[in-house]
Amino acid sequence: MAQFKEVQIPEGDLIQVKNGKPVIGDRPVIGVLRGDGIGIDITPPMQQVVGAAVDKAYDGKRSIAWCPLYAGLEGLQRYGSEFPEETVEAIRHLKIAIKGPFTTPIGEETHVCLHCANQQYHDGTCDKCGKNDGVCERFRSINVRFRQYLDLYACVRPIRYFEGVPAPNKYADKVNFVIFRENTEDVYAGHDFERGSETALAIIALVKKMTGREIRSDSGIGIKPISLNGTNRLVRKALEWAVSQKLPSVTLVHKGNIMKFTEGSFCKWGYELAEKEFGDATISEKKLWDELDGKMPEGKVLVKDRIADSIFQQIQTRPDEYSVLALPNLNGDYMSDAAIALVGGLGLGPGANLSDDVALFEATHGTAPKYTGMDKVNPGSLILSAVMMLNHMGWNEAADLVLSGMEKAIKEGQVTYDLARLMVREGRAGVNELSCSGFGQAIIERM
Ligand code: NAD
Repeated sequence: MAQFKEVQIPEGDLIQVKNGKPVIGDRPVIGVLRGDGIGIDITPPMQQVVGAAVDKAYDGKRSIAWCPLYAGLEGLQRYGSEFPEETVEAIRHLKIAIKGPFTTPIGEETHVCLHCANQQYHDGTCDKCGKNDGVCERFRSINVRFRQYLDLYACVRPIRYFEGVPAPNKYADKVNFVIFRENTEDVYAGHDFERGSETALAIIALVKKMTGREIRSDSGIGIKPISLNGTNRLVRKALEWAVSQKLPSVTLVHKGNIMKFTEGSFCKWGYELAEKEFGDATISEKKLWDELDGKMPEGKVLVKDRIADSIFQQIQTRPDEYSVLALPNLNGDYMSDAAIALVGGLGLGPGANLSDDVALFEATHGTAPKYTGMDKVNPGSLILSAVMMLNHMGWNEAADLVLSGMEKAIKEGQVTYDLARLMVREGRAGVNELSCSGFGQAIIERM
């Protein structure tokens, strides 16, 4: 039994991962990180909704043993660190966890208050909220560090429409796809060198020496690594998902026409992996037309590719042609936000970050500090992330109950202020603005 200082592992079944699949008992222990800001508002309704769905789906024979873990403000208060090592270890140990949002310093200031996200040049008391137990030194993004420390290489974002949500896109009701974004490579790998620095100048000189090509000497330099291994493991996850869920296609999105040996290779390696490891379950678009005259064989997943700029148009004009998108990091980042806007915005976008054995589910919005503790914001993103978590556990019946409860609540106009405001603006009648916890209750009542 692993020993922890602050983490109390409750009675229950520890999850194991065998052959890449989680083995789940009737009372699995799952980590929960409340997060900063509105994390305190959205986490309890999420737990209540999940608890009610599991109870109902399995007649009380299954339940979740939640194990609180601490980072951000709670980490600072308990361990004196916003990113405690023990928390990372505990997630590794538990294999599945779900988290709220965390504050990330953005400006140049040296300190940040984890109560209200205010940034200032001194420690001690926060100039904005007056609290003195949440001001800490500037730090790197907690979310990014979780991804790096746990090697969470696949960022998964399902995008779908909920009937009744005012959405800007005419075809919003046809949007239903899952984005698999590579999370560790590309220009996000952190190889970014300042103009005039020794490294930037050395790289400029090396490129000149080896290729004769000129890069302006006053350039900042970023390096964009995309590896075979990094691509394979991401595309494998996307294909596994499409095959297991019997989805029609996986689309490799890239800018290989310009960046041949990074984005172009992503596409080429993706096709090769599909052929090698999923040959019986997939068919490439080229083969479909070259050999089968475009007649799709039943039960197979079509593997196709699209250039990044064109897919940004196609998700708006022909969204129903896409069911799984696999992308390198930067394109995946843009795509995740652009796609969620199609169906009405970030409030309802869930997310997961996956490694080979750890799954960390997360609300995709931030800490919205001005609403902290007001029981006002929309807990939908975290609740839908919990739906992904239930699917990941194979508890699909409970996941479906949560989804149907949420679909009905939204359709009936029983929603939090953010959606209520949009619905009223569209002239919809019968809209009832609920609190954050009230929305959770409305979901439970409609399961
Ligand atoms: P934010 O997502 O907190 O807020 C943006 C807007 O969306 C605000 O108007 C807010 O009121 C609204 N909003 C956010 N979540 C909502 C919800 N659940 N229901 C209704 N409305 C909601 O983004 P921000 O203001 O740019 O960032 C605030 C803090 O959150 C920053 O410290 C930032 O670094 C952090 N952040 C964290 C994450 C994460 O942990 N995954 C993501 C984004 C931002």
